[in-house]
Amino acid sequence: MNSFHPPQRVLMGPGPSDVYPRVLEALGRPTIGHLDPDFVGLMNDIKSLLQYALQTDNALTLPISAPGSAGMEACFANLVESGDEVVICQNGVFGGRMKENVERCGATAIMVQDDWGRAVTPDKLRQALQDNPNATLVAFVHAETSTGARSDAATLCEIAREFDCMTIVDGVTSVGGIELALDKWGIDAFYSGTQKCLSCIPGLSPVSFSERAVARIQGRETPVQSWFLDMKLILGYWGEGQTRAYHHTAPVNSMYALHEALLILREEGLEKAWKRHALHHEALKAGLEAMGMSLVVPVEERLPQLNAVSIPEGVDDASTRSALLQQFGLEIGAGLGALAGKVWRIGLMGCSANRRNVILCLSALESVLSASGASIAKGAALEAASGVFND
Ligand SMILES: *Cc1c(COP(=O)(O)O)cnc(C)c1O
Repeated sequence: MNSFHPPQRVLMGPGPSDVYPRVLEALGRPTIGHLDPDFVGLMNDIKSLLQYALQTDNALTLPISAPGSAGMEACFANLVESGDEVVICQNGVFGGRMKENVERCGATAIMVQDDWGRAVTPDKLRQALQDNPNATLVAFVHAETSTGARSDAATLCEIAREFDCMTIVDGVTSVGGIELALDKWGIDAFYSGTQKCLSCIPGLSPVSFSERAVARIQGRETPVQSWFLDMKLILGYWGEGQTRAYHHTAPVNSMYALHEALLILREEGLEKAWKRHALHHEALKAGLEAMGMSLVVPVEERLPQLNAVSIPEGVDDASTRSALLQQFGLEIGAGLGALAGKVWRIGLMGCSANRRNVILCLSALESVLSASGASIAKGAALEAASGVFND
């Protein structure tokens, strides 16, 4: 056995995205103790950088030491108790996981379904809340990575508030890629991930809880059934003021990486990062359409950072993606669930949203599709994409 040296890849799937070299460099710095005074200082900095990234003043804002799915579980395990009724708006894969979480907490999930590839319909949520007056929580995915659809989080939270419900929002793919404002929108519990638009390594899940959510957690009748994800215990480690008590060993080097990624986001500025994702999405879309391909999600509901494109008639899904990987080192994503075999998911997340990646993706796709005899328009994609950049 030899050391593992990963091949050079360009990551344009649903995550992980390309990681900033600065982040990888930070990861390799010497490990210090997780209760070292200098590490505690780093934790404070991470918290304030996260508050900026999420646009919140929530004191309970921190990275869970595990991937996005653990952040999801932390939100549900802490806010949901046996017997609760939770309305879940589902428009893709991740809403299904929310249902699993709610049911494993011994609560009832009231599902509000929308088509895969579409945003959540606010009126359906309003109707469900009218029909289920005992519901106390509403959960939905802001950026559905499984389809590329963006839901109107501000409106959905407003409706939830009208019915005195708290909100749990999945923003794993939102942070850094599209507008996000926890406090302005009144989100009560929020979880995200590091490996999508933050271009950090996978394995951490920034979460944030409003004061209302913290009060609900403090007022629980039963203990949170997960010891590791119990926010009351985690607060003893991450909380302000008090001496930090050992809860678990933080992934020290991963925290260096997250700190660096958040610093890069702040240096660029949120608005600029959102605009950069939008611009590269426009260029990719122009190129794909010039080839004769089409995006699945209607224009006004599209996520710039995740582009679901219909696989052209007669083209083989798996062998195309495998040719892109072998010939160009380029990773794009397969369709999930209802969209499996029908779409590719092309990510433009974090530092993957750059001009070189867009041009590489378009030319590699054109090359591989032409070689397989697919009926696509040749020679038009790069000009269309360049037209957007040069506008
Ligand atoms: C990726 C993703 C998750 C899960 O995150 P992991 O880090 O893979 O556990 C959850 N929700 C959405 C919307 C995602 O895109």
